[in-house]
Amino acid sequence: MTSAYKIHEHKYDMVVVGAGGAGLRATFGLAQKGLKTACISKVFPTRSHTVAAQGGISAALGNMGEDDWRFHFYDTIKGSDWLGDQDAIEYMCREAIPAIIELEHQGVPFSRTEDGKIYQRPFGGMTTHYGKGTAQRTCAAADRTGHAILHTLYQQSLAHSAEFFIEYFALDLIMDEEGACRGVLALDMSTGELHLFRAQGTVLATGGYGRAYFSATSAHTCTGDGGGMALRAGLPLQDMEFVQFHPTGIYGAGCLITEGVRGEGGILRNSAGERFMERYAPNAKDLASRDVVSRSMTIEIREGRGVGPKKDHIHLDLTHLNPADIHEKLPGIAETAKIFAGVDVTKQPIPVLPTVHYNMGGLQTNYHGEVVTLKNGNPDTVVEGLYAIGEAACVSVHGANRLGSNSLLDLVVFGRAVANRCAETIKPGAPHKSLGASACDKSLANLDKLRNASGGTPTAVIRDNMQQVMQSNAAVFRTGETLLEGVQKISEVHASFADVRVSDRSMVWNSDLIETLELQNLLGQAVATMVSAENRKESRGAHAREDFSDRDDDNWHKHTLCWVDDAGQTRLDYRPVHMYTLSKDVDVVPPKARTY
Ligand SMILES: Cc1cc2nc3c(=O)[nH]c(=O)nc-3n(C[C@H](O)[C@H](O)[C@H](O)COP(=O)(O)OP(=O)(O)OC[C@H]3O[C@@H](n4cnc5c(N)ncnc54)[C@H](O)[C@@H]3O)c2cc1C
Repeated sequence: MTSAYKIHEHKYDMVVVGAGGAGLRATFGLAQKGLKTACISKVFPTRSHTVAAQGGISAALGNMGEDDWRFHFYDTIKGSDWLGDQDAIEYMCREAIPAIIELEHQGVPFSRTEDGKIYQRPFGGMTTHYGKGTAQRTCAAADRTGHAILHTLYQQSLAHSAEFFIEYFALDLIMDEEGACRGVLALDMSTGELHLFRAQGTVLATGGYGRAYFSATSAHTCTGDGGGMALRAGLPLQDMEFVQFHPTGIYGAGCLITEGVRGEGGILRNSAGERFMERYAPNAKDLASRDVVSRSMTIEIREGRGVGPKKDHIHLDLTHLNPADIHEKLPGIAETAKIFAGVDVTKQPIPVLPTVHYNMGGLQTNYHGEVVTLKNGNPDTVVEGLYAIGEAACVSVHGANRLGSNSLLDLVVFGRAVANRCAETIKPGAPHKSLGASACDKSLANLDKLRNASGGTPTAVIRDNMQQVMQSNAAVFRTGETLLEGVQKISEVHASFADVRVSDRSMVWNSDLIETLELQNLLGQAVATMVSAENRKESRGAHAREDFSDRDDDNWHKHTLCWVDDAGQTRLDYRPVHMYTLSKDVDVVPPKARTY
């Protein structure tokens, strides 16, 4: 097998796959700790989806009124609808403060208050005093926070001499017989040559799989390649039924209008001009958490109060805000609304619709970023040599619903945690374990099969079928009927991949082949999402079932684990939610009703 393809071999202490916020924070941290680190990315680092993050990054700095990381801890647990692991949430909310101060010192150009502190805006579900007050907790660089963070982290990575392999597409994890990860096989897209990166530790920071859906705010590169690699390596994915719909994607285009707009005073209105969120969330109103707002909007549209000729969307109104404030705090939004919806936000409302935005599910990890799996009855067994961070991972700090501005935080806190952990556990320059001669064979066979695939269905047709099924059968509201139909339809789409046709046979910049590899990764996760959603007979966070409209803690206060094999066959199991904390500084928050 190996003879057909020449493989270049590299040896590193650590290899990071992905150069978004998570991957770069880990890369520079690892390099800073003296570990020889390579970072592989299929796009130029600063083009990763993190660059599009607008609203900000949370941390209880208390720069603009009273705040405490314990309030942040409580809000995140409540936001997660009690599915988040409380040890990991404690770690994230406490470490948020030093992690943000570090970012500031590394050069992130945060917006400032009058007295020169980091500017912080209100965001959905963020409160003080356990739900009583509104917290201004989301640190922002105008409405281009992700852009600011990503550029700073890339510069820091270069400053610490991390080595980059850009426009390299990671194909598969290289696992040994004991189930440990020994590195990753990648394709240099510009030449078609293969590169084997052997490492003591491999970090997956490949982002989400939003593109399994038809309408998503995520970039076209968000194809969940890390999750696909994990499934092929026989590892389960956790909590895949929880997909976040952002309330305010631009109608038709799908581009995001940040929650920061509502944080700055923007209001959602129905066809009667009514501020309808007052009826659904009397206290938090437009700043209730995302699942709540998305459902309320969907109900308004269903009951005939949508706007536009088809009454199929909602208005986001900023016209009452001071144009100077919009110009200063939300310049990117004003531009996006002009380009993609043709509206002047100072004079007209923006047409919006709930749009797929974030994947709560992913590779299960502990709060050090180490991938864990269920082995011999222990769901927290560490997979040696493998780490996952960012949207590709499920720590789980977001549980059933992520709060806005907690993802950028998750990237930097757990990117940093991996670096700290590896500095303790991995010795720079330690010898690499030997690899069997056939270690890459499975991956090479898959590549070869797809490169020469001569079936009857083009990649784009299968992708379109997948996206339509996900969009209609795993939507904001779900029923047993639509989910059962979805399971059947998505397994048919998965099976149709056997008939895929790749027309381009070359190895140089073969985007036909790359899109097919991405589709393969998406398909496994689409199946996992649908099957996990059909299986969970309750409503929790973003998973809203009309046939089981209540949360059912007796039966479902647990994480779902889903395995999907190459043939699309699934297996489900469960993992208990961590209902313990790491220190005595906070108490476990027991489940209670979630109202805003
Ligand atoms: C429009 C938008 C706005 C958002 N705004 C906010 C916000 O204001 N606050 C907030 O907290 N969150 C926000 N989010 C969510 C947050 O930005 C994302 O969850 C986060 O940026 C994901 O970062 P990441 O590092 O995990 O992955 P990404 O930034 O998606 O990066 C993935 C990386 O993996 C690489 N990669 C993937 N597959 C492969 C492969 N096969 N081989 C090689 N490399 C690969 C890519 O090249 C890329 O470098 C927003 C999301 C969107 C879509």
